[in-house]
Amino acid sequence: MIFRRFIAGLLSAALTVSPTFVASEVAGSNLPDFGDSSGSLISPTQEMALGEAFMRSVRAQTTLVTDPEINDYIDRLGHRLVAASDAPNYPFTFFVVNNPAVNAFAGPGGYIGIHTGLILTAQNESELAGVMAHEIAHVTQRHLLRAYESANQMSLPTAAGMIAAILLGVAAGSTEAGIAGVTAVQAGNIQRQLNFTRANEKEADRIGIQTLARSGIDPYGMPSFFERLHQSTRLYGNNVPEFLSTHPVTSNRIAESMSRAEQYGRGKERDSLEFQLTRTRLDVLESDNPQATLKQYRALAKKPSSGPAERYGLALAYWRTGANDQAEKQLRILMKDDPDRAIYRTTMARMLLDDGQKQEALQLYRDTLNLYPGNLTVSQYYIAALIEAGQAKKARSEVVRLLRNKQARTAPVYELWARASSVSGPAWETNVASAEVYYLYGNLKLATDQLQQALAHKGLSEYEQARIRARLQEFKQLMAAREHK
Ligand SMILES: [Zn+2]
Repeated sequence: MIFRRFIAGLLSAALTVSPTFVASEVAGSNLPDFGDSSGSLISPTQEMALGEAFMRSVRAQTTLVTDPEINDYIDRLGHRLVAASDAPNYPFTFFVVNNPAVNAFAGPGGYIGIHTGLILTAQNESELAGVMAHEIAHVTQRHLLRAYESANQMSLPTAAGMIAAILLGVAAGSTEAGIAGVTAVQAGNIQRQLNFTRANEKEADRIGIQTLARSGIDPYGMPSFFERLHQSTRLYGNNVPEFLSTHPVTSNRIAESMSRAEQYGRGKERDSLEFQLTRTRLDVLESDNPQATLKQYRALAKKPSSGPAERYGLALAYWRTGANDQAEKQLRILMKDDPDRAIYRTTMARMLLDDGQKQEALQLYRDTLNLYPGNLTVSQYYIAALIEAGQAKKARSEVVRLLRNKQARTAPVYELWARASSVSGPAWETNVASAEVYYLYGNLKLATDQLQQALAHKGLSEYEQARIRARLQEFKQLMAAREHK
């Protein structure tokens, strides 16, 4: 919250460059390695403000995966790596972009995006973790700083929007990305700075492998994934995976990361059932052709090598084709062996709800919340199920309670609040909740409209009015900042 208030004040000063830095650049000498001196370029507060604006811009420009299980897995794997990195206290945020291109990227403020295509291409957890550790290293080694410097001619929201557009591959030009006030030269400058130098890449590989090893994950995951990408370039022809265009994988790079991995040795975790279940979930739920996917998982489940992930995929594929009885049968087999696994329980509850067995579904969510108290994923499912079961009042009190937890203040949770309050709450509450959703999706105009509508309702207490006014003021300052340049 504090950061948002800072933004308006920041704009004129945001991203200004220290004179010494400009001098060294003008002199054409080699760019300094920022390391500890980086503080002079952008303050942590400015970086966080840029990061938040970047994330809002990402939401406005692309589709993110909203599946709670997939996000939860990526978040946990990411934070396990961060804990083993050089900056364990840096506030990283991980999100999944719905895009088949094999890509991952690091934005300002520790926002790390992973494409669905990358998760599906990785064959085990250590390969996915290898790429994530590499991106984390770009942040901890402050490789993005020169891109911020190039953005210093723009206002903070414009710079954030531009960086988002480039990293998402939305557009190199400004008009397509809907970013006003950015010249082609400015866009080009940022683009160049976002393409990390070879030295940056080498360092990110080196630090990333170290992070993998420290976190107990097989460091061979990185060379293994590079090798897979290298091989795939033959199959892709001209259609080279996105990640390769910014991260050229040469045999030299593979060999180097391989010899680094050798220093740490194997004997670390290579894979996890959670990775395989999450990847399978993504594969089945995102499939354009559920019938073909069902056929594929039927064949996979018959193989002698088949395990729980294949059976889970089969259950989901049955469910997607409407064969709920078959789906539940497969899930019950899985739950017999592994009854406490949250992903089986939430999937089963979701299927029961689909079948109209509302009380059974709600009970299963409640039991699961008793097993994992405060679990965000299960809480969200439970609240959505309460709404579906016609218990909006209970849903509303649950979601309000959930929002006391700062981690829960995400767009999907605010959406649940808006849905619950539209049925059972005062009308202004729906406006307030919707305003937060619009804000998080980067639409300040609609967010402001919602708050103004909220204030027009009767029956608000003075305290509520004051809170809404204060929030409105913050949104207005942000809007003014956006139009500044
Ligand atoms: Zn890189």
